[in-house]
Amino acid sequence: MGAMESEPRPFPEDWQRAAVVVAHPDDVEYGLAAAVARWTRSGRSVSYVLASSGEAGIQGMAPEVAGPLREEEQRRSSAVVGVHDLHFLGFPDSALRNEVGLRSAVLEAVERIAPDVVVVGYYGPAWGPGEPNQSDHVELGHAVAEALAVSGLPLYEQDLAGELVVDVEDHVEAAVAALAEHRVYLEVLDPTTPVLEQARVQVERSCPPEQVLGGRRGVRLSRVAD
Ligand SMILES: [Zn+2]
Repeated sequence: MGAMESEPRPFPEDWQRAAVVVAHPDDVEYGLAAAVARWTRSGRSVSYVLASSGEAGIQGMAPEVAGPLREEEQRRSSAVVGVHDLHFLGFPDSALRNEVGLRSAVLEAVERIAPDVVVVGYYGPAWGPGEPNQSDHVELGHAVAEALAVSGLPLYEQDLAGELVVDVEDHVEAAVAALAEHRVYLEVLDPTTPVLEQARVQVERSCPPEQVLGGRRGVRLSRVAD
């Protein structure tokens, strides 16, 4: 997270096709989905690449049951924000490593999508003080950056302190609905709070009101250096 306090600039929109690369089902929905909704509703096409199927993510559920369930929840969730092209790479949940196998699978998927821009989930060491990022996110992010280093493709990282901002005020509800499609996952994570309520809290936290947008909500990203 950068310490710069300068005002964020608008995220560029001079592109047609984006690939969003994340570690697990639901990673896009913790923040990026509101921006994705804005992009697809303005006629852009967005594809998702998911390194794992999140099969270790539901406590008490066998991986061979959880994996297909989470893929299905991800398909429903993606459809809410206009994304119908999903690429599951099948790497092991909770054991992602930035190694050649993962890097080449990411590169291959991205080349198939042939995007103008690539977006990756936040892969810095910590979300905030005492909130370390998960190892899968860190490993995957570095793998994507290394895999794409020679591609010349602009790479952006979701980043709460990023220097770029997407105005998502009109897409918050879509993002909440998208996260709520991870129904079983959220129900197990917190059995006492209704899924929609959980989704709203998470989405609003990930796209806070932005001064530069006159108080409208925004998703921040930063450009990953070449
Ligand atoms: Zn994740």
